[in-house]
Amino acid sequence: MKHVLITGANKGIGFEVAKQMAQLGYHVYLGCRDEQNGAAAINQLKSEGLSNIEFLKIDVSDLHSVQQAAASIPSLDILINNAAISGKQPQNISACDIEEVKRIFNTNYFGVIQTTQAFLPLLKKAALPVIVNVSSELGSLTMQTSKDRYSNWDNYHVYGATKIALNTFTISLSQELRNFKINSVTPGYTATDLNNFAGLKTAAQGAEPIVQLATIGEDGPTGQFFRQEGELPW
Ligand code: NAP
Repeated sequence: MKHVLITGANKGIGFEVAKQMAQLGYHVYLGCRDEQNGAAAINQLKSEGLSNIEFLKIDVSDLHSVQQAAASIPSLDILINNAAISGKQPQNISACDIEEVKRIFNTNYFGVIQTTQAFLPLLKKAALPVIVNVSSELGSLTMQTSKDRYSNWDNYHVYGATKIALNTFTISLSQELRNFKINSVTPGYTATDLNNFAGLKTAAQGAEPIVQLATIGEDGPTGQFFRQEGELPW
């Protein structure tokens, strides 16, 4: 049975990814920074008949927590870097608080790097190691400069910058680790806490393209950026 870790899986899209991966028969490590929230999520999934799920305490912005989490599991085939924050709004780049900029980068970018580095020794032992970085349309420079870009864009300039940085991480890591499958994927605009439930998709729908990328085989892509409908421009 393959093992998958989803960070930030106690709610929202991450929770639905955990559920769908468990339904597909994977052994799921449900990553969560808060034990009570993690236990509530596990109980909910168990009440739906899913037993192949384990809580893993992990705060991606805390190196010690990340290293403890990596030391506490025996194997890992798939890492889904899902945890993120959107930050305080608006985010007009001429005036936003630099401490807030650092806080958002600390989770969405530095958090992903340190989490990935900590789990690489386990992933390297997998037959087909897979990493999925959960990005956003706002992580696409092409989309940021498109006239059809998200109408609420002023609220998300810093968040968008973290996802662009995340996408460069996908590119660099996939070029370095040639036997891995490493991709970025956006769930699309989804109703979750991240956007005060303004999104148009359900969390289960948002989870679908992530699960698709997490379950690719030897012939699957690497070093690319996807949404539900197909490839996205960087
Ligand atoms: P969400 O409901 O706010 O869930 C975010 C999850 O990340 C929560 O479980 C949260 O835990 C966790 N988290 C935040 N900081 C963390 C940390 N330092 N360590 C560990 N976990 C942490 O948001 P969501 O919409 O499901 O977001 C999931 C992913 O989809 C994110 O990467 C987001 O950028 C991306 N995305 C979302 C949308 C959308 O429209 N919703 C669109 C594009 C991309 P707590 O409960 O403890 O806060």
